[in-house]
Amino acid sequence: MPAGWMRNRNEVGSKVKKDKEQKKNIKMLPYIGYCFRDILRFTPLMLWGKLAVSIVEGVLAVWQPILIADICELALGLEVIDKDVFYRNIIFLCLCIGLPALCSIVTRWTEIYNDCKKESCYGWNMFEHAQKIRLEALEDSEVLDTFQKADAAYSDQMAGSRMLSCIFIMIEAVLICVSTICVVGRFSIWLIPGAVLGFLPHLAISLISEKRRVTVYRAQSGVRRRMQYLWEQFCKKESVKEMRIMGFGEYLKKLWVKANVETMREMERVELKALQLGGLDAVIKNTCYAANIAIALLLMLRGSLAIGQFAACLSAFAVLQNELMKLGDKISEFANYYHYVEEYYDFFRIEEGEDGREEYQPFQQEIALQNVHFRYCGSERDALNGVELNIKKGEHVVIVGVNGSGKTTLSKVLTGAYQVSSGTVCYDGQNVNNLRMAGLYQDVSMVSQNFVHYNFTLRENIGISDLKYMEDDGRFQNIIEVMEMQDLVESIGGLDSQLGREFDGRELSGGEWQKVAIARGLFKDSSLIILDEPTSALDPLMEYDILTKFLELIQGKTSVIISHRVGICRSADKIVVMKEGRVVECGTHEKLQEAGGEYSRIWREQAKWY
Ligand code: ADP
Repeated sequence: MPAGWMRNRNEVGSKVKKDKEQKKNIKMLPYIGYCFRDILRFTPLMLWGKLAVSIVEGVLAVWQPILIADICELALGLEVIDKDVFYRNIIFLCLCIGLPALCSIVTRWTEIYNDCKKESCYGWNMFEHAQKIRLEALEDSEVLDTFQKADAAYSDQMAGSRMLSCIFIMIEAVLICVSTICVVGRFSIWLIPGAVLGFLPHLAISLISEKRRVTVYRAQSGVRRRMQYLWEQFCKKESVKEMRIMGFGEYLKKLWVKANVETMREMERVELKALQLGGLDAVIKNTCYAANIAIALLLMLRGSLAIGQFAACLSAFAVLQNELMKLGDKISEFANYYHYVEEYYDFFRIEEGEDGREEYQPFQQEIALQNVHFRYCGSERDALNGVELNIKKGEHVVIVGVNGSGKTTLSKVLTGAYQVSSGTVCYDGQNVNNLRMAGLYQDVSMVSQNFVHYNFTLRENIGISDLKYMEDDGRFQNIIEVMEMQDLVESIGGLDSQLGREFDGRELSGGEWQKVAIARGLFKDSSLIILDEPTSALDPLMEYDILTKFLELIQGKTSVIISHRVGICRSADKIVVMKEGRVVECGTHEKLQEAGGEYSRIWREQAKWY
């Protein structure tokens, strides 16, 4: 993927599509290469272990019929032969039979080794990449889908290492088949056609069936995604409660069943075709097996094949049958794992956002937005449409406006989380596009609308925003008092009590969780704090109380409060009114009331309710 695509978010969706097209042309080699690269990087012992096992098993399988032939020949003329050679061959044959058990122990060990390291290697690899993806990309459903698929591919399937195991076993099986055919061909050239005939059709049939499976599976990816989404609704506690009380469980079930039946029918058709081909394959394979034995028997009766060679042929044909079955199984496993490998590595095709090069210097004067435009990917219109705004250091700004007017988007652009399509966002003249984001984020605190309920202790829930103060009980105390959370802390048994039902902690009400989230935002030592609809779950009296105290506590800090309720506006230094992605009014409560525009209209509308 070319660098910098996230910088132009309008291209996010199309870039992913373009890459998917490119990927089809690239076919499978790069993905296998990525697997090798990562396995060499993370779990090299697994690679070498599997390679050693494949080599040993391959040599043993081919050596076995040769040994059997030699032993039989020697046994028939035992008085005249060198007994040492005979017994040495017997020992080698025992090794041929016994060593595979050791190989399976080594294989199992490589799997355990791999499983133990997967979280810290593949999972961490994903986490690191996810940290660099531009935040606005996460608004793109295709990017999110890629994210989820990669997660499933790595955590459930361990697809890369399993796919490589399949490759080794397939190469090993092909080599064994070819070498076995060579061994029997050395006894008599007439044994070659039957052996090859049993081998090639099986290979072709397995490949055809697998290709069909994969094609249908890929074509179904949209329906499968929908099925998964519906299934998640049956498992999430919020949706389960809602569907039970509102009574739409049956409706969702019907949607799921319909999608399920649709996909299963298609897969059933593919499997039936595979079954027919499999039947044909079995007939060809077994006929060739029987024909091979018959030819070997005939050759022996005619004296062209020694008894020992006949015995070796029987062993060789059995090996051939066994390897062919293995090959068929591994081809289908390979196709399955390859699909997951694609999904895992597709995640790394989502381009990282480019970080700026300049170090952020904490702002002393103002934040200035000039002619800022922002559009979500896939959207037909700008969510921000030429925003002009100045926020002075230490100013308390409240942004109001009807739903969809662009308030939340503005807060994301203000912190540099979303990169503007055009225009500039500058902190004392430092354009956020050029800044190293880690430095800027250190100076900004945010409580978003969809804040997270962390199933951690209360101390962690609050202190996680500024780890250096995690043990500073005085700082916690101060914030708990401002947020009037003393009763809550007492009732749950102190700061170190677990919250949330996930790990048997205390579940909080919506309003209590909201207080915890605001406390988290306040706890962080930052110059700017943004609260996006922070008090929607609180009653108006509590809201007014908390926000007034909040403004007192953050004297000296710059704050931006986004709210659809205008009650807090009287305490603000500046009110910014948003409409259709623009700032339509800006000023104090008195000034805007006098102006009789959008703000006074919203004020009047809301006053009716109180
Ligand atoms: P507000 O916070 O004022 O309710 P938002 O900033 O959330 O408004 O939304 C502004 C506009 O952007 C709306 O038209 C909304 O539909 C659109 N929008 C918000 N989020 C997304 C998204 N993830 N993808 C596409 N459009 C979005």
